[in-house]
Amino acid sequence: LELALAGVQQLVPYVPGKPVEELQRELGLSEVIKLASNENPLGTGGKATAAIQASLPELTRYPDGSGFALKTALSHKLAVLPEQITLGNGSSEILELVMRTFAAPAHEVVFSQHAFALYPILTQAVGAQARAVPAKDFGHDLDAMLAAVTDKTRVVFIANPNNPTGTLLAANAVERFVAALPAQVLCVLDEAYYEFVDPAVRTESLAWPLRFPNLIVTRTFSKAYGLAGLRIGYGISSLDVADLLNRVRQPFNANMLALAAAEAALGDAEYLDETLAVNNAGMAQLTDAFNSLGLEWIPSAGNFVSVDVKQNALPIYQALLKKGVIVRPVANYEMPSHLRVSIGTERENRIFITALSEVLRGV
Ligand code: PMP
Repeated sequence: LELALAGVQQLVPYVPGKPVEELQRELGLSEVIKLASNENPLGTGGKATAAIQASLPELTRYPDGSGFALKTALSHKLAVLPEQITLGNGSSEILELVMRTFAAPAHEVVFSQHAFALYPILTQAVGAQARAVPAKDFGHDLDAMLAAVTDKTRVVFIANPNNPTGTLLAANAVERFVAALPAQVLCVLDEAYYEFVDPAVRTESLAWPLRFPNLIVTRTFSKAYGLAGLRIGYGISSLDVADLLNRVRQPFNANMLALAAAEAALGDAEYLDETLAVNNAGMAQLTDAFNSLGLEWIPSAGNFVSVDVKQNALPIYQALLKKGVIVRPVANYEMPSHLRVSIGTERENRIFITALSEVLRGV
């Protein structure tokens, strides 16, 4: 369509997995399990559910456009100022707001080779140029990324842990990188999987935006807090960056149920503890199985792991699908022999492992 902007005409859309119900019907299976989108396998938490129910009678009203209650809760929990927080319709919206606020045609955007699929899409949508920097051991090569920054660069994305590789950068390496960036480059430190990281090796990055005005840290309620379907995430930045994003965002970008549920989820320590316990046990269960199958996997700090099936992963993905197990091929991330699998419940992991070993044996 000639109406479309040049960048938009060439866009290839992000393709999410098919809904489980649709696949189940298509395949005529009694059960389909989905380990494809790094979701929380425990179902919605009790406190979030209660908060959603309590909000239902209020749905004729607009939500609080300032997100006052959730920002207050976040600022207490995270030791940041409420004015540093930007709420979004998922952390994806924060990433999009950043791009709409800071990047335009003729600008460049730097990210790593195996970076989250949304970064190139958002870059192209605003007509900017993507600079994908070759990875090192599947992870970010920060020196090479710094070298890729030019006077046209406006945004750099770092996901820590990274998706789909699960690789983790050390806090001091990230801090050094941000300190070395020119002032006109905004660094997006995407910490969607922060809560899954072992506290001993976490990047305690939230104090940094007051020192580095060109840094925004993004996090989400979609993963460890189990609210992917509600769409709620946030950014922590300097006051200046938050002020700019606030001018660009829609007035009611975070919906009422999401605001209420996120606030409740933040106070649900029991749910978070169980999530982390299930994730740690599941990670061990899957990686032990990969070892037994003689498969290499990339050590992951997230709630997923990418395994090398030592052949074109697409037919393996298709064969798993036929058995009712949805995982994520990552060929479009330039990892053609890897499959990314989200950590599920003990039972889901077991079903996946059985299916994978059958597929690899040609059964
Ligand atoms: N960043 C990364 C690295 C992700 O993997 C995801 C989800 N797949 C997101 C951001 C976006 O998550 P959400 O919009 O649900 O907060």
